[in-house]
This record gives sequence, structure tokens and C-alpha cells, in this order.
Amino acid sequence: MNIHEYQGKEILRRYGVHTPRGFACFSVDEAVQAAKDLGGAVWVVKAQIHAGGRGKGGGVKVVKSIDDVRKEATQILGMTLVTHQTGPEGRLVKRLLVEEGADIRKELYVGMVVDRVTQRVTLMASSEGGMDIEEVASHTPERIYKIAIDPRTGLTDADAEATARKIGVPEASVAEARTFMQGLYRAFTECDASLAEINPLILTGDGRVLALDAKLNFDSNALFRHPEIVAMRDLDEEDPAEIEASKFDLSYISLGGNIGCLVNGAGLAMATMDTIKLFGAEPANFLDVGGGATAQKVTEAFKLMLKNPAVKGILVNIFGGIMRCDTIAEGVIAAVREVNLKVPLVVRMKGTNEELGRELLAKSGLPIISADNMADAAQKIVAAIGASK
Ligand code: GDP
Ligand code: MN
Repeated sequence: MNIHEYQGKEILRRYGVHTPRGFACFSVDEAVQAAKDLGGAVWVVKAQIHAGGRGKGGGVKVVKSIDDVRKEATQILGMTLVTHQTGPEGRLVKRLLVEEGADIRKELYVGMVVDRVTQRVTLMASSEGGMDIEEVASHTPERIYKIAIDPRTGLTDADAEATARKIGVPEASVAEARTFMQGLYRAFTECDASLAEINPLILTGDGRVLALDAKLNFDSNALFRHPEIVAMRDLDEEDPAEIEASKFDLSYISLGGNIGCLVNGAGLAMATMDTIKLFGAEPANFLDVGGGATAQKVTEAFKLMLKNPAVKGILVNIFGGIMRCDTIAEGVIAAVREVNLKVPLVVRMKGTNEELGRELLAKSGLPIISADNMADAAQKIVAAIGASK
């Protein structure tokens, strides 16, 4: 799960990570009031969307008068912000962060991710802050310094200080940078984050260390432990199909292809998508209906897949273990009738009561194509959509 920059900073401040002072605003008047409350002579008006690259896209403006706060807030609120992470359709800006302007002497980068290879949280740091870190990684990888953090010790003083020095933090600010990184690590582990990225982390003219930007992602499997983080969820920033899916306890991810897939089990769903690709087509979605799929769940799954106008055919791939194939067949038949299916449908079922299931499908009088194995199923659906083009 993703949150906004201002929410990320709110969490980080609780762990002693310093940030500029600022307020989240939902209207131009609120933005103006926020700037007045902050005082000072320089403010930054920042679009809050769940995507990076806002600066380059015109979503971050540094201003020097209250009039300009009003002008930029009017400009940014309600704009469709296009960045390299939003795709060409962009994202509608509904929230702003108005912050006090920072006196930037140097922009640095600090990030943390769970590294599957070392099975540890890896701290990544670079002197190249404020830039696209993927660019730095591909052109000048030697400028990214990495260490795997031992969960028994946490981020040690020695490691944090060495990292700070490696990325060019001057001696007078090393202690503050250490506290910053250690606070970030504690926030990361205690909040069950999967990613934390501070780009840029800045050194100010008077030697302070501040998070100027904050991107936090959380492990959805651990959200039950963090109701205060769940409360930060912004559904406007999420895929409507995925929100709908979560209501029915379906694991659904939108993808770019045209074959809808309905599968039980995440592993089988991945294998199904691979098989579709093997035969030259692309899946329109990942969809795992889980172990206890009822007829109603299957119907909802069909509705969800068919909301995507790109879907030209559907492949159902079910392993009947605990779930019996005849139950699934009944669900599929009910769903096809209810949604009045217009695109080709291939069903492959294996396992408990598979003969009975296949018989039900055949007897239904519906134009359902049965398949024996995964390769057969994938080839049949690819051929069927080819023919219907
Ligand atoms: P992103 O483009 O979505 O990653 O948004 P950031 O929050 O990283 O802002 C982009 C850039 O705007 C930063 O790298 C800074 O150079 C600049 N910026 C952000 N906040 C301030 C500020 O308070 N003062 C100044 N002078 N520049 C800022
Ligand atoms: Mn940034």
C-alpha cells in the first residue's frame, strides 16, 4: 500500500526524522492559510499524488509571496499531472502539501528496501539526490552505496556514520545524518514498510539534515497490525478494479493484455499467464479467486474482468483440490448467464470431480470451450480471440 508524501513525513517525524514544517491542503484557501501559518518568506507548493517525478512535471513550485502561493495552488489543484510514473493519462491532483521553503545546500538520496537475496533490509545511499535514482543506478552505479542491515543489531552507529561520510555529508552533520537514517530504519521496520525512499534528503545551509520528499510503501500482509496506516489509504489513487476486487476478497491486478484469466491459487495464476504469453498473447489481468471460491465469487470475478474493455476472451484455469470442479462449473455457468458473456471462454479444470464438472459445462448449452491441459487451454483461447478479431 502506498501513501502520500505528507503522510509519509507525518510518520517519519514520529521517529525523529526531520522534515520541513508543512500542512496538507485540500483547497486554495487552505493553502494560503497554511502559508500564513507557517510564516517566513519562501514556501513550496507540492502536488500530492502517488507518483514521483512531480518536480519535472510542474507539480512542485517554490514561491516567494502569499499571492504566488495562491496562484500556484490554483494552478496545481485540479490539474492533471503527468510524470514518468503516471503514464500519459496523468493523475488528477486533489491534495497539496504547503511547506516552508528549505535552504538547500546539497541534495542526497537515501532509500531502504527489503532485499530478497540477503533477506535483509538494504540501505541505499547516494550523493546524487534529487535525480531519478534508476538513472543513477544504470549510468553511475558506483555512486550508490549499499549495506544490508542485520536485524539483530538494527542500523548501527558505525554503519550509519560510514554511509553518511560515503555520500559526502560533512563531518559537522554526520551525527544528525546518523540519527536520521536510524530513525528511518526504525520507521521502516516498525511500520512494516516494503520501501522507503527519501529523494532528496537535504543538507541545509546551516548544516541540518531534512527529508524534503518521502515515499513509503507498506507490506499489505502486515496492514492488519497498523490501522493508523490503513486510515491513510487514498482510494482515489488506486485502480478502481483492484478496489472492487478487494471487496470480494479477490486478488486482482490489472495488466495490459486482452485475455482475462480466472484462476485459483497465485502460483497457478502466474503459470497461466506465462502459458498465455508462451503462445503469443498477453493476459489482461492476474486474478486469484482463492481456495474457497463460491458461485457468487466467480460471478463477481467475471464481472470484474469484463469491465475491462480490452478483454477479448477469458481463460478459466482451476485446480479442484478442496474446491470441487463441479462447484466451479456451476459457478462458471451461473456467471456466464448472469453477465451474458459475449467473448469466447475456455475452461480447463483438473482435480476432484473434474468429469462431473466438464459434463455440467457441456450440458449447459453455453458456448464454453473445454480444454485438457494448460497448453491446450492457452492455445484454444489464443485461437478463439484470433478468430474473433
Ligand atoms: P518529486 O519530483 O515527485 O520527486 O518531488 P520532490 O519532493 O522530490 O521535489 C522535486 C524537487 O523540488 C526537489 O528535488 C527539490 O530540488 C525541489 N524542492 C522541493 N522542495 C523544495 C524546497 O523546500 N525548497 C527548494 N528550494 N526546492 C525544493
Ligand atoms: Mn523526490
